[in-house]
Amino acid sequence: MNPTCYQNWIHLDLKGMIPSESRLIEWLDRMHSGGITTVIFEYEDRYPWQTFPGTFRKGYERTGWEKIWAHCKILGLEVIPLVQTYGHLEWLLKHEEWSKYRCDGRVNLLCPQHPGVRQLITSWLNEVAHLHPDARYIHIGMDEVYHMGQCPVCRKRAECSPQGTNQILLEHARFVCETVARLGKRPIVWGDMLQECPESGIGSLPPETVICEWNYRNGEGEDIPKLRLGGKVAMMGASAIRCNYPTWNRLVGALPERIENITRWKKFAFNTGDVSVVIHTVWARSRGLAAVYGPWEGWLPAFDAVIARESSDAIMRGMTLLQRGHDTGHHQQIEEAGAEMKNLHSSDPFEEQALRWWEIALRYYAELHVLFYRVLGQEELYGARFWQGADPDLVVVSEQVHDGLVQRLTSLEVDVRDWLKKNEWSDAEEFLEERIRSLRRVAMRVPSLR
Ligand SMILES: [Zn+2]
Repeated sequence: MNPTCYQNWIHLDLKGMIPSESRLIEWLDRMHSGGITTVIFEYEDRYPWQTFPGTFRKGYERTGWEKIWAHCKILGLEVIPLVQTYGHLEWLLKHEEWSKYRCDGRVNLLCPQHPGVRQLITSWLNEVAHLHPDARYIHIGMDEVYHMGQCPVCRKRAECSPQGTNQILLEHARFVCETVARLGKRPIVWGDMLQECPESGIGSLPPETVICEWNYRNGEGEDIPKLRLGGKVAMMGASAIRCNYPTWNRLVGALPERIENITRWKKFAFNTGDVSVVIHTVWARSRGLAAVYGPWEGWLPAFDAVIARESSDAIMRGMTLLQRGHDTGHHQQIEEAGAEMKNLHSSDPFEEQALRWWEIALRYYAELHVLFYRVLGQEELYGARFWQGADPDLVVVSEQVHDGLVQRLTSLEVDVRDWLKKNEWSDAEEFLEERIRSLRRVAMRVPSLR
């Protein structure tokens, strides 16, 4: 293989916030103009599946999806559906009607031994294939099924096999891959769980199978695919534009490590030719029922690293300020970084919105530190009064901090809502509840010492 011949694909996880149909098209245009050949949509419950009535969560209706797919076709951007067929199925199994398919009662895990499961998956894959007649692949997920094989039926099955629970994984993977292959498509499977399986077991998957090794870390040598199959099964690799970060104390994760991860994968693909495709993933929550990550604009430089688009000076300066703000624990220094961010502007509308979102992210981070001061400072005063007596002046200062904080959080909420509305993001209320009002709720729980 010519090592320079690899492709960059983008994966969009739709389990969190999604842009409006027209904004999504603008994002796709930008990525396509930068050389992205394929988009993978991880649909979750954002499509009104006939197989799973009653599960559709507001997003793009069927007609909206048809417009999006048609636009991709005009661009020559291949669309690949991703549907999880083992774990990460919270969107489905959380519903009472579908909970009977859980393995060991787990809300995210399907039981492959349930008598109705194979028919259900076959029917779903038929529907998926029918909606994507031009797609050469269907991505079937199957990552992170750490709790597989624990219900009584699965356990019994595992005990009968020398490969234990891996046998359950391999049998289920084989069934799903064969079903996809029969539909004339190639199945893509995440590689993490297969690492523990013997090579013979992996070799028993149908020849159409493509294994995708994801690695979102950055250490030397760490982003090299670990699965070595002697060329028996085709390989792809995956980086993360956005993945797990501490949602409870940041509105944007650390960007330099994302850019490093993307760059290392691209170099690896280019230099070695060991992977034919690098899928650059954009995750929307750490798991199905966890907090939403927020709008993509916050991670714009990572998107741009994928398409090798040079960032403006304002964005480079903005990234430095964001990092400086996140690296300090002092609210005044965070506010200073935010004030400097306010003066940065770009003529590129995506970059301009990224800068405005980072300004909001620093305001949030500054208030978080005021909240620490208020909550822990108040507890300290509460403790001190039993030893030395109460100092009314300190109590007044603490109450003033509280009043200012609540006022600023209220104004931050308004500004976040306005920004999300202007940029046409879904699920603004959920974002505000989980990520902004949560701070105010904590502040309000602090009892007064007056
Ligand atoms: Zn089970």
